[in-house]
This record gives sequence, C-alpha cells and structure tokens, in this order.
Amino acid sequence: MPNLSPGTIVAETKCGDCGKPVKVKLNKNGNAYYNCPHVDENLERCNHSQRWGKASSQKMQRNFIASRKSQENIDEVKSHEPADAAEPIGTDTGVSKHPDRDDPFSAFA
Ligand SMILES: [Zn+2]
Repeated sequence: MPNLSPGTIVAETKCGDCGKPVKVKLNKNGNAYYNCPHVDENLERCNHSQRWGKASSQKMQRNFIASRKSQENIDEVKSHEPADAAEPIGTDTGVSKHPDRDDPFSAFA
C-alpha cells in the first residue's frame, strides 16, 4: 500500500464549513486530513478540520501517485529531462525533511 511522507498534499477539497478550497495532507500515520486556514470577514479563522480513515486515505494516496505518474510521463515527452527531481516515494526514514511538519498551515502560505 502507498506510504507517502507526512505532509504530502494528496488532494484538494472544499472546506466542509466555509466551502473554500483546502489542501488535504497526510499525517504521520498516513491518514489524510485538513485544517481550514481561511478567515472570515471578521478575521476569525475557520479552523474546521476533517480527517479520513485508513481506507479513504489510501485511496487518496493511490490517486495522487497515479496522477503524479501521468504528469511525469507528460513532462518526459515534452522535455526529455530525467524525472529524478521528484520527491522519492517510500524513502521516509522517520527523519523529517519537511520543515513544515509541525505547522499544518504552512503549506497554505
Ligand atoms: Zn473553512
């Protein structure tokens, strides 16, 4: 089963509360979640969050990998560049290379 690194953005969806677009990321257990970063007209942060279970999270990871692969194939046809610049899959050693690991909102900056 896919096991992408924590913090990987695997999908985009709409916030279940304010309806604005939010990015769905993986937590360290490989489960998908978001914390809505949007603020309303009173500058109150939405902070709505949603988490998905293992089955849905795995499905999102597979969809993400599939779409990334098709994107790489397109790039390869266009440029003939080696595809080794992409973030490797399945090399998570437990050492974080993601400075945003503890800040779920930094991906929205
Ligand atoms: Zn929201």
